[in-house]
Amino acid sequence: MTLVYMKTVLDKAYKNGYAVGAFNVINMEFLEAIITAARKSASPVILNIAEVHLPFVTLDNIVPAIKAVAGRERFDIVLNLDHGLTIPTIEKAISLGFTSIMFDGSHLDFDENIRQTREVVKLCRPWNITVEAELGAVGGAEGGELIGKADPAKYTDINQAKQFVNETGIDALAVAIGNSHGKYKGEPDLDFDRLKAIRDVTGIPLVLHGGSGISAADFKRAISLGIAKINFFTGMSEAAMKATADYMITAGQRYNDYPMMMNRVREQVARVVSEQMDIFGSCGKAAADLTETKPV
Ligand SMILES: [Zn+2]
Repeated sequence: MTLVYMKTVLDKAYKNGYAVGAFNVINMEFLEAIITAARKSASPVILNIAEVHLPFVTLDNIVPAIKAVAGRERFDIVLNLDHGLTIPTIEKAISLGFTSIMFDGSHLDFDENIRQTREVVKLCRPWNITVEAELGAVGGAEGGELIGKADPAKYTDINQAKQFVNETGIDALAVAIGNSHGKYKGEPDLDFDRLKAIRDVTGIPLVLHGGSGISAADFKRAISLGIAKINFFTGMSEAAMKATADYMITAGQRYNDYPMMMNRVREQVARVVSEQMDIFGSCGKAAADLTETKPV
């Protein structure tokens, strides 16, 4: 297998009523954990690398590792630039063989978000690379604030969503409907009526960022209303922290226990990813042979 375009994976999920998880890769342990979970579940998977995580993970090193993994596995693997913020980073991702780019212009005003998103679509089209963009503003910040709170004034506007999709030609739209990055303050309260209306006017796969902390029931309802991709990172990071802390208590200062601790992190992150794949309904949906692939 080679890396797969995100549009191929999302269109299939959208049509068949499940969502594909997009899990952030920050190092080899996370990559291996995510891949182990996807293999066990025979699930397609989206590997996210966020621009804000670039101080922690080196693209030139991790992308060849991801391509090696994709070459061996029998399920669909997408490599997505998560929250691309700058054109140089987007161009770098394109040159490295990413099969999807998420451009985050949510901080811009509406017209400027359209203009810059169109630029990104123009860069990606010649390579058939999928483009996801965001309209409205998801609460919190990717890799930023610890506690995210969604602001109803920044929820995705339904009429703007229609215009935005028509004028940019994007393949997937990240919506703000009460979802938030980081940990939720109180219970997440998603605006399902708005989600349904956005689905009805756009007709393209929708994306839910800030997946950690949303209940299984809410995920399922969101998926039934057009969500085909769910971004998930905080829950993995928490599991890794807890595995590390728990292991430190038992290991104390034994210098040679570090590799064992890494294994615990891998196991716990894989467990969390498997649980999410189960909730998202993507297990058993790998069907790698049916999808369009790209040489890497
Ligand atoms: Zn996000």
